[in-house]
Amino acid sequence: MAASEESVVHGSPACPSPSAAEPHHLPSLDRLLRQPGVAALLREHGHTLVAAEARALLALLRTQALARALHRDQLGPEALAQQLAARLHQRLAPRMRRVLNLTGTVIHTNLGRALLPEAAISRLAELMAGPNNLEYDLASGGRGDRDSLVEGLLCELTGAEAATVVNNNAAAVLLMLAALAPQREVIVSRGELVEIGGAFRMPDVMASAGARLVEVGTTNRTHARDYEAAITERTALLLKVHTSNYVVQGFTASVAEAELAPIARAHRLPLATDLGSGALVDMSAWGLPAEPMPQQMLAAGCDLVSFSGDKLLGGPQAGLIVGRKELVARIKQHPLKRALRMSKLPLAALEATLSLYLRPEQLAQTLPTLRLLTRPLADIEASARALRPALQAALGAGWRVEAVALQGQVGSGSLPVERLASAGLALAPLAATGVGRALDALAAALRELPLPVIGRIQDDRLLLDLRGLDDGAEFIAQLPLLRCADGH
Ligand SMILES: *Cc1c(COP(=O)(O)O)cnc(C)c1O
Repeated sequence: MAASEESVVHGSPACPSPSAAEPHHLPSLDRLLRQPGVAALLREHGHTLVAAEARALLALLRTQALARALHRDQLGPEALAQQLAARLHQRLAPRMRRVLNLTGTVIHTNLGRALLPEAAISRLAELMAGPNNLEYDLASGGRGDRDSLVEGLLCELTGAEAATVVNNNAAAVLLMLAALAPQREVIVSRGELVEIGGAFRMPDVMASAGARLVEVGTTNRTHARDYEAAITERTALLLKVHTSNYVVQGFTASVAEAELAPIARAHRLPLATDLGSGALVDMSAWGLPAEPMPQQMLAAGCDLVSFSGDKLLGGPQAGLIVGRKELVARIKQHPLKRALRMSKLPLAALEATLSLYLRPEQLAQTLPTLRLLTRPLADIEASARALRPALQAALGAGWRVEAVALQGQVGSGSLPVERLASAGLALAPLAATGVGRALDALAAALRELPLPVIGRIQDDRLLLDLRGLDDGAEFIAQLPLLRCADGH
């Protein structure tokens, strides 16, 4: 059997095996669909999808037959039904999947940033199947404003006069600039011309918004007098930008919002600040590095503050703008506001998330992202010790698995240099050669698990930071499926 299969796959056309399938052995589409094993598939999925996949399967089999790489056994009725079922299963498998984030970066932009709180998930489930009052004022029975669903909460939590929300913080910045500085100048420090995640670059955003960027100061030092000297009758706005993903260290100077506010006021100019992450509560209350808060920025004299919904705030993707009433009104009237408006899904999730801040004492339990950030180190270490033997057993003798101390980070452009003391597993191949390739292969095998595991490779080891692992049992349960290049 094995020998004849070999000869089918590798045999020459001059010497065909008797069990090699020829294209004329393939059933017609009609016949395939009428086979008994396919009936159940048709009942489950309907004719359109099953016929499409059956056609694709037959085309593939024909190519294989022409390449003499097909065995007649593969054309039996059961084998065909099985292949068809497998194709349908794959076709229907969602492309967007859960993964385990063991990278050590808690708010990971590539892995979906903040985890949605249970309160937001259940709100979505409750609201989204039916109609809702998204833009309907239940009191008057007339047209409502979707922003009003969260504006009250945002004002209450930040002390702002007014608030508006859009798709994300990049949209918030774009909209602020487009609405407040069309064809006019916006003054920004050279030390704050940030690039966030590739495509968001402050000078480009400025150009897209139709505003003219006026850079002041130098990369490392900008002074109040630099802003003052740049103000002309063409100036529309002073803008501060939080340097989310880098720090300028050494001989540095920047002008804090509190120092800039009187200058802006003296020239009757608005001062806006793009906080990026922005935390609605003091992170140091949980022993985390402090991050500037929108309410502090307003108190310091900023007229507008923008920040993200899915960074430290711990909610859905959103761009939040809080500040002075008349400026927010101008922003809301700009045509881009309509183009950048939030959809009902994140809006419902945002309202539910913001409501959690009314009970700040419970946030470390109610916000899953904060729960991960505040997980006690001893817990994470215990999890590493508990999981080590199972992973060692799954990887076999070719690998060394150790429980180790690790340095994680908050992520997503907040607190860029601060490290989070964490713990996890370090996986290293014992072979002295081909270490890089072995690590890449193992990383790939972990990603191929039913629940893909994403770690990081560093210093010739694959590191799994266990801060992000809520359920160790789920991790262990799929280890028998790990198929990795461990040298045999
Ligand atoms: C993250 C960030 C942005 C972009 O926010 P999104 O919500 O990702 O669109 C803009 N500015 C700063 C300073 C940021 O940190």
